[in-house]
Amino acid sequence: MSDTDSDTHDPAALRTPIVAVLGHVDHGKTSLLDKIRGSAVIEGEAGAITQHIGATAVPLEVVSSIAGELVDPDDFDLPGLLFIDTPGHHSFTTLRSRGGALADIAILVVDVNDGFQPQTLEALDILKRSQTPFIVAANKIDTVPGWNVHEDAPITQTYESQSDRTRQRLDESLYTIIGNLSDQDFSADLYWRVQNFQRNVGVVPVSALTGEGVPDLLAVMMGLSQRYMKEEMEIDVAGPGVGTVLEVKEEKGFGTTIDTVLYDGTIRSDDTIVVGGLNDPIVTEVRALLQPRPLAEIRTESRFDNVEEVGAAAGIKVAAPDLEDAMAGAPVRVVRDRPLEDVIAEVESELADIAVDTEEEG
Ligand code: GDP
Repeated sequence: MSDTDSDTHDPAALRTPIVAVLGHVDHGKTSLLDKIRGSAVIEGEAGAITQHIGATAVPLEVVSSIAGELVDPDDFDLPGLLFIDTPGHHSFTTLRSRGGALADIAILVVDVNDGFQPQTLEALDILKRSQTPFIVAANKIDTVPGWNVHEDAPITQTYESQSDRTRQRLDESLYTIIGNLSDQDFSADLYWRVQNFQRNVGVVPVSALTGEGVPDLLAVMMGLSQRYMKEEMEIDVAGPGVGTVLEVKEEKGFGTTIDTVLYDGTIRSDDTIVVGGLNDPIVTEVRALLQPRPLAEIRTESRFDNVEEVGAAAGIKVAAPDLEDAMAGAPVRVVRDRPLEDVIAEVESELADIAVDTEEEG
């Protein structure tokens, strides 16, 4: 090793982009998340996919083994994708970070048969206002009459082996969706025709049931993140953690806990934190950081493992005193070696922003 200079700065670490799934009820959000989780478990080495609190981490190697030749891991330096487990725009709008939406990127699921529906339009409106980059998963392609299933295959492969009639039917549905997007002022096209994903929305035909197109979906998400969001993913890993409360939960043996998505820095089991509360910001000491224990290891003891430290991006359960008034969607900040008043002021100003946004939404 030639690098002996201890003053050399490490390049900022790159965190995992946070992904949210939106769309009309029954269009397949949950099924799509389940499919990705399921494929990751099958494809990955044991432990390669990690179940976080409220989120699922799919590391780059697993993305690459699902996506096959569509993702060469050498082309990427982002560590993978972190999917928020609760789909739907309620969780999307309540979950905010400093800069806007907590999710860095979104998948808008649209049923190819059902097309645009009221909640599709609502979701689009939310994505537009929060300026969140997204792609459209045109789901349930396996229900197109005459569809010939190729489990887990990339879309081009399965598309080419359909009959002309079936392909035509799928094309019609896809172009209807592209037309609907254009009516909402989004210039969109089939993802393989899109050159610039900042200007155009990519539409990826998928089936959450058969896994067809899922390789493409992951490849596009990974590519889009790497290409356009790398700078936003640069974090100070050793810095004080910053996150958002997903849920406030009573947990046997731990009292009130907050399920938190951390999007910057680290949180340690001896940190003091400030959390947005119903009335005033809550200042408290972390008692335990809890991660779900893998199912196979659950016997009679706790469902959770205690950890000393967690780095962004991650989902973690924080046990601490005085969390009864904590709110879903509120900020969480680690104090570490900064003046407590400064951190309280930051949390207060973030809470004020959230209040304004909520009023705007009516
Ligand atoms: P959500 O409300 O958006 O989360 O939708 P779900 O994931 O619960 O799916 C609604 C229904 O559609 C369920 O019965 C699913 O089994 C079915 N479904 C979802 N994706 C697909 C798909 O790709 N193909 C088919 N044939 N059915 C699907």
